[in-house]
Amino acid sequence: MEVENKYEIIYSKIKNVYIQIKDGKVIIKAPKYMSKKELKKIIENKLDWINKNLENSKQNKEKKDLYTREQFTKIVEKNANELIKQTQLVPNKIRIKNIKYAWGTCSSNRNITINYNLIKYNEDIIKYVILHELCHLKYMNHSKDFWNLIEKYMSNYKEIKKQLKS
Ligand SMILES: [Zn+2]
Repeated sequence: MEVENKYEIIYSKIKNVYIQIKDGKVIIKAPKYMSKKELKKIIENKLDWINKNLENSKQNKEKKDLYTREQFTKIVEKNANELIKQTQLVPNKIRIKNIKYAWGTCSSNRNITINYNLIKYNEDIIKYVILHELCHLKYMNHSKDFWNLIEKYMSNYKEIKKQLKS
């Protein structure tokens, strides 16, 4: 396995092997008593998946900021104001923060957080994330009604959403 050095293997009391890519690193969680040989076989079977995701993860890391912090804040504010006017969905507060597992969040207190890492993405994508979180003020789920509401204000949201995944 040529990528072996980049692996971090964590043995713990679990039943299955979990493979995770984080910050350009492969983290493997394995059952405590699994033999090295067995683990190696599982990793080898997953090598294509690992390499593909490793590549994606690196590309994301290398993405450059498109704006200054100040510009980014203004873009978020401008788009949020426009979308609030259009949708009549009014949050309590909108914050910009570095968050790990989502591009945006919406709490039951109607507070919206926009991920600072969107500074690496174009305005359409930033707008989509704001709209997505605003629509959660009405639907706290990803139901069909929720997506219909998004589509109402951004007919091409599916294409934009795709760009965020990679
Ligand atoms: Zn959502």
